[in-house]
Amino acid sequence: MTGFDFAAWPPTLTEAQLEELSVYATTYALSHGLLYLPPAPSLPKVPTAAIHAPLALFPSPLPRKLFEQATRLQRIYNVLYSRVALDDEFLDQVMGVETGVGKVDDFIGQLWRGWKALRDEGIDQSLHLGIFRSDYLLHSPNGETPELKQVEFNTISSSFGPLSQRVSELHRYLLSTTGYFNTSPYLSLENLPPNQTISGVAAGLAAAHSAYSASTSNARILVVAQDNERNVFDQRWLEYELLNKHSIRMIRRTLTQLQKVAKVDSTTRKLFIDVPKDLEASGSIEISVIYFRAAYTPHDFPTPAYYATRFLLERSTAIKCPSLALQLAGGKKVQEVLTQAGVLERFLADGKKYHEVFSKEEIQELRDSFMAMWGLDVGDDLLTPDGQAIQAGKENFGVRKAREEAQVLVLKPQREGGGNNVYKQDIPAFLDTLPPQERQAWIAMQLIVTPADVGNYLIRAGSTTGSSDIQAPVRTNVISELGIFGWSIFGKEGGHSHVKEDTMGWLVRTKGTDSNEGGVATGFSVLDSLLLV
Ligand code: ADP
Ligand code: MG
Ligand code: MG
Repeated sequence: MTGFDFAAWPPTLTEAQLEELSVYATTYALSHGLLYLPPAPSLPKVPTAAIHAPLALFPSPLPRKLFEQATRLQRIYNVLYSRVALDDEFLDQVMGVETGVGKVDDFIGQLWRGWKALRDEGIDQSLHLGIFRSDYLLHSPNGETPELKQVEFNTISSSFGPLSQRVSELHRYLLSTTGYFNTSPYLSLENLPPNQTISGVAAGLAAAHSAYSASTSNARILVVAQDNERNVFDQRWLEYELLNKHSIRMIRRTLTQLQKVAKVDSTTRKLFIDVPKDLEASGSIEISVIYFRAAYTPHDFPTPAYYATRFLLERSTAIKCPSLALQLAGGKKVQEVLTQAGVLERFLADGKKYHEVFSKEEIQELRDSFMAMWGLDVGDDLLTPDGQAIQAGKENFGVRKAREEAQVLVLKPQREGGGNNVYKQDIPAFLDTLPPQERQAWIAMQLIVTPADVGNYLIRAGSTTGSSDIQAPVRTNVISELGIFGWSIFGKEGGHSHVKEDTMGWLVRTKGTDSNEGGVATGFSVLDSLLLV
C-alpha cells in the first residue's frame, strides 16, 4: 500500500484498549522468554527472577522496498567484511600499531599485537565465522523520500537476534488476538514479515561446528559471556535451538573462568575446557566453535591476563566467531576507510584476486547506503611526529571540518556496545580537549536525519524486581533502527579466499527522539518489529 501517513502512526488507543494490549504484551513476553535478568549490583549465580525486555506495543512502519534493499545488500556486506578480515595487509595498515589506529588506541593496539604475534609464529585461522548485523536508519532530510543509510556494521557479539524474533511473534500475536481493535487497515499479517533469526544464527554456528568436527562428535560450542550479563535469554535461545535442531551442545564460560580452565593442546592446538569430573566424566570438553558475546570492550579485559586468555583461544584450532582479524575488520575506522575512493573496488571488483566479483550497479547500491565519513586525523601532516601542531592554534583539516559542521555530525571512537559517541553541540568542546595524537582513533560521520513524527507506545518493566505495576505506556515520538543479520564462514585455500554466507533475520530497535544513542542493553531503546508499508 502507498500513501502511508507516518505522522499518524501509531493509531490512537483509548485507555481501556491500551491497558488490554499492555497486559497481552507483557504476559506474552513473560511466557515466551522475551526476557532480561533484572538489574542488580551483582547477579545471583542461580537466577530465580526475570523481567520482560523493553518493548514497543506496535510494529514500526518501514517502506517495503527499503526492507528488501537492506536484505539484498546483506549478501555483499557479508562477502565484503569477510574479505576485509582476510586481507592482512589492509588491516595492518588501517588498524595496526605502525600506521593504523592501534598506534593511538590501546585496546585496538592490544588486539592487533596479539593477532600479529600469532601470525609471526605461523599460526593462521583456517576458517573464520562471522555473525553480522548491519544497522540502518532512514535518512530523510527536509522531509524527502526516505533512503536507507548504514549506521554501522557489527562483526562481534551481534545481539538481539533471538529476542527480536520473539518481538515479531509478539506483534503477530497481538494482531491475531485483538486485531489491534481494528485501528488501522495496515495492521494485517502480510505486512508483518516473518523473522527467523533464531534458526538462522544457529545454522551459522552449526555450519562452523560441522566444518570443525566431522570426526569429533563430542565437541561443543563455547559461548564466551560477560561476567554480569543480563541479556542471557537472547543467548540461551540459541543454545536450545542448537540442541534441539542440530544436537549440538553449548557451554558458557566467562573470560574470568577461562583463565583457569581453557587449555590448548601444544601439538594439535585443540581447545579443551576443564570441567569437574562429577559433571563430565572425562574432566574436559573439546571446543569446536568459540562464540564471543564478550571481549568487545576494554572493560572485558581488566588485567593483562584477560588478553592472554583471549589470545590463547585465538591460538587454538576452534573456529572463532569472530577471529581477532574479523573483530578488527568491524572497527569504525574500517567503515570510514571503505567510503574512500577505490576501496570497495579493491574488495569487490578485483577479478584477479577473487573468484566472485560484483557489478558496478551492486557496488553503487552499497555505496549509496553510506553516509559521509572522514578521519579526524585527515590533513594531520601539519603535525610534528610528537603530535604538536606545527603552527600553534592551527587545526588540521579533519578537526576543522568537524568543528564547522558539528551540528550535523557524530564523532565515533573504535568502541562497541553503545554510549561512546559524541554528538552535535558537544563536539566543539570535545575537540578542544582531544590531544592531537588521538585524532587518528576517531571518525566523523554525518548524522542521519530520520523522518519526523513517527510514534509508538513503549513499555519498560516497572521496577527492578519486575514485581510492581508498570506505568501505563505513553505515546512517544520515536526513531527506529533496522538491523539485518547475516553469517559467513570463510578462509583462504591455496591463497584464494572463499566465503559461504547467508542472510537471515532482522531486528528493530526503537528509541525516543530525545536520545542520540540507541542500544537496548544500554537502556535507550526498546525491541520492536516491522510493519511494511
Ligand atoms: P555502537 O557500536 O556503540 O552501537 P553505533 O555506531 O551503532 O555504535 O552508534 C550508537 C547509536 O548512535 C546508534 O544506534 C544510533 O542510534 C546513533 N548513531 C550512530 N551513528 C549515527 C548517525 N550517523 N546518525 C544518526 N544517529 C547515529
Ligand atoms: Mg550500534
Ligand atoms: Mg556496534
